[in-house]
Amino acid sequence: MSFKIDLHCHSLVSDGTLSPTQVIERAVRQQITDIALTDHDTTAGLAEAEIIANKHKINLMSGIELSTSWHDKCLHVVGLNIDQSYLPLQEGIKELKDIRNNRAEKIAQKLANKGFKGAMDLVYKNTKDGIVTRTHFADFLVAGRHVNTFQEAFDKYLAAGKSAFVASQWIPLVRAVSWIKDSGGVAILAHPLRYKLKANQFKHLLIDFKEAGGVGIEVVTGNSNPDTIRTAAYYAAKFDLYGSVGSDFHKPGNPRVELGCLAALPNNIKPVWDIFK
Ligand code: AMP
Ligand code: MN
Ligand code: MN
Ligand code: MN
Repeated sequence: MSFKIDLHCHSLVSDGTLSPTQVIERAVRQQITDIALTDHDTTAGLAEAEIIANKHKINLMSGIELSTSWHDKCLHVVGLNIDQSYLPLQEGIKELKDIRNNRAEKIAQKLANKGFKGAMDLVYKNTKDGIVTRTHFADFLVAGRHVNTFQEAFDKYLAAGKSAFVASQWIPLVRAVSWIKDSGGVAILAHPLRYKLKANQFKHLLIDFKEAGGVGIEVVTGNSNPDTIRTAAYYAAKFDLYGSVGSDFHKPGNPRVELGCLAALPNNIKPVWDIFK
């Protein structure tokens, strides 16, 4: 029997462009057999995704990607197989929404100071679950022709250290992992090489993450290459962590990041899906 898996992707309830239905339909076209929808800080897309996944007989795992803080770094933790009705998780999601709203006001103010007014109206209009992300601000800057491309919005204004960047205190890593774990789910460190941590910081992080109850890291992501896979696999093996694979798909049109288009997990790494067998 064929098996094709993607355990990290987004719909328009956070910062993707496709509805949960369209994400699942695309996954079916990509011949994916097992998928997790992992929107940023919300489970609002899961009910819709479940209906369409049942129709197409594709295995859907309830997922989320939580924004967390660890030593002033923003780290993303993917929760797989979560129980979305678990109250502390939903309360945590409310906290994250407040953090996002406060940050959004500040980003909008910084942009207004540059003469780019009206961001708040547009970004909220374009959210489905009130989850405002920097992607929405990037779209605002493109729509207003303040930048030529989506990427330019990040490179000039929104990326860390740029003029409209606002640092946030997200949820402490340990708390986020505990919500996932206590809801019956499995916590995975998302795109571990994107945080630009030095080797000793990274080891420190993995020790803390495991101690909190984290069980895996993404070894293969949409942007992986043989080098990054080797590095991530090295750490997974060294710290006895499961390996996950997830594209981090947000929208069609980027051939390098497509649903289900992922390299294989190295043979020596324990696949996270073995946990769910
Ligand atoms: P937020 O969680 O609101 O800070 O938004 C982060 C989202 O913006 C990520 O999930 C990505 O989808 C996107 N993003 C972050 N940094 C960049 C970047 N440098 N270039 C393009 N997209 C980015
Ligand atoms: Mn995103
Ligand atoms: Mn992420
Ligand atoms: Mn993501």
